[in-house]
Amino acid sequence: MQGAGVQGCRVQGAGVQRTIAWAGPLFAAWMTGVTGETQGADPWSTLAERYVRLVLAVGQHDADFVDAFYGPAEWRTAAEQAKVPLATLAEQASALEQEVGKAAIPAKDETWAARRSYLSRQLVAVRTRVDMLQGRRLTFDEESQALYDAVAPTHTEAEFEAILTQLSERLPGEGPLVARYDRFRQGFVIPPARLDRVFQEAIRGCRERTRQFVDLPPTERFTVEYVTGKSWSGYNWYQGQYRSVIQVNTDLPVYIDRAVDLACHEGYPGHHVYNVLLEQHLMRERGWVEYSIYPLFSPQSLIAEGTANFGIEMAFSPADRLAFERDVLFPLAGLDAARAQDYYQVFGLVERLSYAGNEAARRYLNGTIDRAGAAAWLERYALYTAPRAEQRVRFIDQYRSYVINYNLGKDLVRAHVEQRAGLAATPSSRWRAFTALLSSPPLL
Ligand SMILES: [Zn+2]
Repeated sequence: MQGAGVQGCRVQGAGVQRTIAWAGPLFAAWMTGVTGETQGADPWSTLAERYVRLVLAVGQHDADFVDAFYGPAEWRTAAEQAKVPLATLAEQASALEQEVGKAAIPAKDETWAARRSYLSRQLVAVRTRVDMLQGRRLTFDEESQALYDAVAPTHTEAEFEAILTQLSERLPGEGPLVARYDRFRQGFVIPPARLDRVFQEAIRGCRERTRQFVDLPPTERFTVEYVTGKSWSGYNWYQGQYRSVIQVNTDLPVYIDRAVDLACHEGYPGHHVYNVLLEQHLMRERGWVEYSIYPLFSPQSLIAEGTANFGIEMAFSPADRLAFERDVLFPLAGLDAARAQDYYQVFGLVERLSYAGNEAARRYLNGTIDRAGAAAWLERYALYTAPRAEQRVRFIDQYRSYVINYNLGKDLVRAHVEQRAGLAATPSSRWRAFTALLSSPPLL
């Protein structure tokens, strides 16, 4: 999912049903080995099941914790009925973490090592979230380290000022820069009546470019719904069986850049593809049950948001994107295609301000600025209009250090792909590195 007007995210807003359960027989089908490879013989099946049940149990105390679950419905029912106290869950998380660390693995291959490492890090996050629910206070960086296994770099005002100076030169006129930027963007709103056509065409463009390099199951698909009254601009709701529902919020004006961003981030090669490949390769082929659940406040989110955001660049080189926008999407949206280059030059500069959002969150959560100060910082250094800044502070209240997963996650995924693909990278080698990241226990 994506926050309003900012880089995307999976976080779902209030009032949205958060999980979908597979029917029992369907789950049994892959547990017994859809491909015939696993036959339910996973030596870690008990550890994996305990992890899933633990995450479900924590979800009883924290409505935001379980982002997706499509394992056996009876496991969730059991968690609901038991409502195990937090203190007990903290002990269970620590015990399971130790057992995972000591458990024998049947093959000394990279994937099994990654499975252990992934589960261990996920359990650190689970235990930390339980501690936080019991009142433990952490600094912004301590929290992101424990929950996402990552700490975002710090940036000074001077670094953002340099970008703001460039933007000011691009957007001359009266009044504060944030107001001039807002006026500039008004010419690039997709008319509501054209939104679906533009969005469907953007999805087609992202899917076509992704399928050129990524093998996807023939039955994968998603549906698009347009909704209102949400705190986000869009999200992917993965349903299992290679299906997603993507919702697009039409409360606020949708700018033209959102079409490709949403289609890539939520769809191809973003969240939809990531979930499809995890289901295909880890759940169905290996029968690794821990992938039937996604705890939101965990290292998995760093990979999910990072690959979704970097996926935009994977699908479209700057030149390809500009041509696609100018020749296809701008005309469909009824916008002046001659201004496409101008728009994306300004957009590229504004994107470089994304870490200003992290600084606002860090200072606000560390208590060095208050709500008004955080909103003012976002307006000043990230060019958020006042309503968006206020909404973003509410997002920070709820999701806290999760904000680092978008930009830091993207930068880490980019570094990983570039390192794996090597100096002589080709589109094929970059896609191989990217797809491997999407298809294996998610670690950076
Ligand atoms: Zn997302």
